[in-house]
Amino acid sequence: MKLDFSQLNKQTKKSFNDQHAVIKKVMQGKVVACKHCQQPLTLITPEQSEQPGISCSKGCTFISLEFN
Ligand SMILES: [Zn+2]
Repeated sequence: MKLDFSQLNKQTKKSFNDQHAVIKKVMQGKVVACKHCQQPLTLITPEQSEQPGISCSKGCTFISLEFN
């Protein structure tokens, strides 16, 4: 069996780019709806949670963010 890593890398890069676009929009104060539940995604700051990131109210989307 041969694994095709090129395809995997492509998908990973695409989802990374998608996440980056979402992060950028939320940071700019734009409303982005969750792909799954259509609830707006909100920014969770390090002051609000030990796991900061971008999440919808149901939690089906979670993009973890690292704040320095
Ligand atoms: Zn959701």
